[in-house]
Amino acid sequence: MHPVLRLISQNFLQSLPGAAGSGAAGSGAAGYGAAEAGQPMVTSIAGTSAVVLDSPHSGTVYPADFGACLPLATLRQAEDTHVEKIYAFAPGLGVGWVEAHFPRIYLDANRDTTEIDTSMIEGDWPLPVSTDPVVLQKVRLGKGLIWKFTDEGVPIYDRMLPAAELLQRIERCWKPYHAAVARAIDAAHARHGYSIHINCHSMPSVAASHATLHPGLAHADFVIGDRDGSTADPALSMRICAFLRERGYSVDYNHPYKGVELVRRYGKPAGQRHSIQIEINRKLYMDEQTLALDQAGYLRLTTDLKALVEQLLVLDPRAL
Ligand SMILES: [Zn+2]
Repeated sequence: MHPVLRLISQNFLQSLPGAAGSGAAGSGAAGYGAAEAGQPMVTSIAGTSAVVLDSPHSGTVYPADFGACLPLATLRQAEDTHVEKIYAFAPGLGVGWVEAHFPRIYLDANRDTTEIDTSMIEGDWPLPVSTDPVVLQKVRLGKGLIWKFTDEGVPIYDRMLPAAELLQRIERCWKPYHAAVARAIDAAHARHGYSIHINCHSMPSVAASHATLHPGLAHADFVIGDRDGSTADPALSMRICAFLRERGYSVDYNHPYKGVELVRRYGKPAGQRHSIQIEINRKLYMDEQTLALDQAGYLRLTTDLKALVEQLLVLDPRAL
């Protein structure tokens, strides 16, 4: 992005009601170049319990080497904005916490490094590339490790991306993020003989044209995903669904989102490693256009989700 345009975008961003610093708990610089000011790409806080939470898509630090051709306000529509604020109670409960500061549209930590569109890359790509037709469906939507299109189908770059640049993103973002999640789950499992990993996301109220395989679908308040019972004991997932329904929310299970790489990679229920994705409907806590946090919605959600996590802290999935 041209430096002047970058400055305009940054000023626009900072004027938004939901911009960093004006919200509730938590903070984070938002704007191109903030990463070069020493901002870490990943925060990891060790826990003492069997529960681990991670937020891979709420990052707002747009690295200076992004080189996208869209305004920052457009890029920010891809964030799971404010999810880290909703779960800000977690470290205080002894829950392990991992949070990405890099934005999802720069690198999607909820993908494997093999989920890559080599037609975007200039130069030889040295890493393995998936040939799985289901994985390639996502890559074709422009939603691989490095996104090609926004959720509205607009190209994010007007250039080819040098292989070295993408390898650098993997080194700076993907590797430390996954190392932190793996470490947190291993530590929880070692302490308690089981682990409950909640992969934290939010979703738009209505799926955009190029966001998913179900464009135009109006989402429930929550979607709970365990990849059809393959990443967690379904009895545990059903407990979470029931808890949320009792609190008055509409809840779908494994539809339209089953969970992707972060539950697939770490969820091994046969070994008492349970990984469950929770998608929150953004209409419950924010203005989806301005990204402004809705205080009343935020307070209700954070209260209910804290109560949910407190239940998980006293639940032994081996006894289910
Ligand atoms: Zn997400």
